[in-house]
Amino acid sequence: MNTTTDAPTPLPCSGADPDIFHNEARTARARKLCAACPLTNPCREQARIDREWGTWGGETSSERAAAGYPPAGWRGRGHKVRLKPCGTLAAYRRHLRAKQKPCPPCTAAEYRRRAERDSRPRRHRTTATTRTRSAA
Ligand code: SF4
Ligand SMILES: [Zn+2]
Repeated sequence: MNTTTDAPTPLPCSGADPDIFHNEARTARARKLCAACPLTNPCREQARIDREWGTWGGETSSERAAAGYPPAGWRGRGHKVRLKPCGTLAAYRRHLRAKQKPCPPCTAAEYRRRAERDSRPRRHRTTATTRTRSAA
């Protein structure tokens, strides 16, 4: 019987110093954490799609660029890794990764993303017409 169903295991990067994921000189430590993570592959894929900066799923910015997925604004190998400022989705994810409560601008960015996602036409939605019980 499984007796360890109480809480999900925290990801190796949660609570880790965010600097190790963004400072090229310290990526070895980030890779080590990612190597022990159950999400290595999906994390790496998502970072490629999102054109992230930093180390995700054990893959650095340079490696993503070499694989054909350069981070947004990438200008080449020597390009310094810059953290996306607060108010962006990358910063929002950075907060979560650092187990921080996302700051208001970052939370707003996440809300915008959700609102955008929810406004995409999906399936049939109710219109503004409200039928009241008294109408009949
Ligand atoms: S960055 Fe991604 S792969 Fe690395 S520890 Fe965090 S969730 Fe896991
Ligand atoms: Zn923020």
